[in-house]
Amino acid sequence: MNKELLNRIIIYKNICLKMKELGFFRIFSVNFSDALGISPVKVRKDFSILGIKGNYKGGYDIDYVIQRIDEILGKGEEEKVIVVGVGNLGSALINYKGFENVGIKIVAGFDIDPKKISAESTPPVYFIDDVKKFIEEQKVTIAILTVPAIAAQRVAEMLVSYGIKGILNFAPVKLKLKNCVVNDFHIESELEKLLYFVKFELKEQKKEKE
Ligand code: NAD
Repeated sequence: MNKELLNRIIIYKNICLKMKELGFFRIFSVNFSDALGISPVKVRKDFSILGIKGNYKGGYDIDYVIQRIDEILGKGEEEKVIVVGVGNLGSALINYKGFENVGIKIVAGFDIDPKKISAESTPPVYFIDDVKKFIEEQKVTIAILTVPAIAAQRVAEMLVSYGIKGILNFAPVKLKLKNCVVNDFHIESELEKLLYFVKFELKEQKKEKE
């Protein structure tokens, strides 16, 4: 499956969850297309590729779409995730409850700073030296990396050697790893892109007025 389709699937599921929360049972391709800024035809084509059945007039059963997307994403049991580096960003992520709605549970945080360690909190924050034992015992395969850039490569290599298979990397460095899928989340470059598009759009609007 290509990355664009995968991104859309995750958005389709989030839209379904929101509509369900609002009390809806059925959803229409136009609901998705409005939210994504794509045509309803494209939505129906995606659903046909994914084997999600519905019809043009009656729409799709929301529970069925969520269940089918979870099957496609290979979701079953709750997925355990750890956060490494519990500073400003890491502590915001560790305390965010919304991940549980999508079947992800942050089970622990790890840090080198004794001031950040708190084994009693929920989720607990442990000293980084305990991460190997934790990963092995809890069979964790995914880590969120929120350490300073200078430590990121070394910490990532260590996590992979302990069994981590996927890293969501917030540190502004390109990690070089074997046997691990890395998804970079570089807020700075996303903001730069956004600024570029906003400036471009404003220039175009100005040109149209002249
Ligand atoms: P921070 O300094 O507040 O937190 C970093 C944490 O990592 C600290 O608690 C530190 O003790 C810990 N740490 C350092 N070395 C470690 C190691 N070897 N093992 C485990 N823990 C270790 O930084 P932050 O603002 O939370 O940012 C974290 C990362 O995210 C940075 O790479 C930063 O560039 C990136 N980032 C942050 C933001 C933001 O909004 N805060 C935005 C974009 C990118």
